[in-house]
Amino acid sequence: MARTVTRKRTALAALALVLPLAFLVLGVGSEWSPPASTRVASGARPTSTAGAEPPTTTPEVPKVPVEVRGLVVERPAPPSDPPPVTEPPASEPAPTEPAPSDPPTVEPPAAEPPPPPPPPPPPPPPPPRSYLYGPSAGFPRNATITVITTIDAPGLGAAAGYWNQLAGRTLYAVGASPALVTVRAGEGVCGGGAVACSAPASAIDHLWHPDMNYPYEHCDVYVLAGWVGDWSVIAHELGHCLGFDHVTDWPSVMSSPPQPDPVRDRDLLLSAGYAA
Ligand SMILES: [Zn+2]
Repeated sequence: MARTVTRKRTALAALALVLPLAFLVLGVGSEWSPPASTRVASGARPTSTAGAEPPTTTPEVPKVPVEVRGLVVERPAPPSDPPPVTEPPASEPAPTEPAPSDPPTVEPPAAEPPPPPPPPPPPPPPPPRSYLYGPSAGFPRNATITVITTIDAPGLGAAAGYWNQLAGRTLYAVGASPALVTVRAGEGVCGGGAVACSAPASAIDHLWHPDMNYPYEHCDVYVLAGWVGDWSVIAHELGHCLGFDHVTDWPSVMSSPPQPDPVRDRDLLLSAGYAA
């Protein structure tokens, strides 16, 4: 009996030793999981190597979602992770720089405006007008013109004195002879309402020239009786004998009617060469 008990005890002890080993070999442990390669490849449960003893517990069941989840890894990237869209640089403004042909350094500084141009100089004064009938009209410029009268002409002395004062010399000498100028009565001679008139005689052909532009040899002055006392009227006619036409631009003894102006009338003598 004792041997039997001993055998039984030995058998029980052996069984106690073998059973844990069998559990280890069969893989029934709840914490076991197959290799990842096997899970991903088939997704099926791993086949037991024991064969005869089916697994009493199926600890692999909770692992299935994990394996499925592992397959999901093979899907394409979820749409929640889109590739970053690279915005085109539309916000960058187009280059507005001038053409490269424009040299930027040639441009002068715009802060300094050019100075205003200086005002134009005043126009030069017009040259004095001679008011001569022409360059050949009149007596020789350096001559002393002798004057006689055939009538009583009270204004003759003042008229001659007016020209002499402006010329600064004895231009007209009253009473000397032979006379170059003769004062006569104007009645029946001067027409057109004139109170006086004059008629120079040419030193060339002794004829009257309508343009009055010729060298004078003699000059006749005609005065109406009512004007023999007006020195300006006689001075006006003596001016015609000098070769002057009527002055229309300013007051002058040569205006018609006469408006003696010593300054302007002296300019006449200077422009004609009778005074220096
Ligand atoms: Zn006149």
